[in-house]
Amino acid sequence: MIAYPARIPLLDADFAYLLKVQARIDAKATYSDKVSAAKEEWKGKSATVFGKIRTNLHSTVHRDEMCAYCESSIADEVEHIKPKDLYPGEGFCFENFLMSCGPCNRRKGNKYVVRTKDGVKEVLRKLGEAIDAMPDGDPRFFDPFCFNPMKFILLDLRETFLFSALAKQDHPDHDAVLLTIDILGLNSREALVERRKKAYRKYLSLARDYLRSPEPERSHQAAVFASGWHPTVWFEMKRQQKLIPELQELFSACPGLNGL
Ligand SMILES: [Zn+2]
Repeated sequence: MIAYPARIPLLDADFAYLLKVQARIDAKATYSDKVSAAKEEWKGKSATVFGKIRTNLHSTVHRDEMCAYCESSIADEVEHIKPKDLYPGEGFCFENFLMSCGPCNRRKGNKYVVRTKDGVKEVLRKLGEAIDAMPDGDPRFFDPFCFNPMKFILLDLRETFLFSALAKQDHPDHDAVLLTIDILGLNSREALVERRKKAYRKYLSLARDYLRSPEPERSHQAAVFASGWHPTVWFEMKRQQKLIPELQELFSACPGLNGL
């Protein structure tokens, strides 16, 4: 999970559409009615407007149409960062949308992470549970538009290719990192771990080719880096270059790789 650039503003008419739908949800008398209204409005949402929202969101990602969470599958679903069933007041809020793949969207489901005065906790509503409002608290699920997740998350490139918390155990965000990783299954889905291992080897091979190539050919290879296989893996390779001998050798021979 890597930080995203700022959102591209929506067209006024599309933004106005979202506001109008959200106002209908907000006008409901009770929290429970708002949850039901958000679900119904979502089923009947404008395909035209959401087609444009998808295009808008896709254009902010680092790699064409890739999932914001796992960076390994095509993102074909508009995901609510704060689930609309828990936070109906943000069901049609553009700042609450990003593109994810189906497996990540389904795993996340109705789960979210907040920090309250009692600490960081996961909030969720299971099937059949009473529809009560969610506790107040600071959002701590790692939204790549708001946080730079890599300030808090570390990817092990030496052996496991698993994520862990970069924040120390007593840091207030330590538990938020672990909950985000767990909710998305970033460590438990073996295929994702394999994709990260493969991306590491591909970047290594590409970086060696880059080093051997004459200057005129490098711009072509730089474009391949930019299209990327896994931006988080490449970010970590640059960040951990002094800790891993094969990376240290490569980057000291070709410091220009840091700019890719
Ligand atoms: Zn995904």
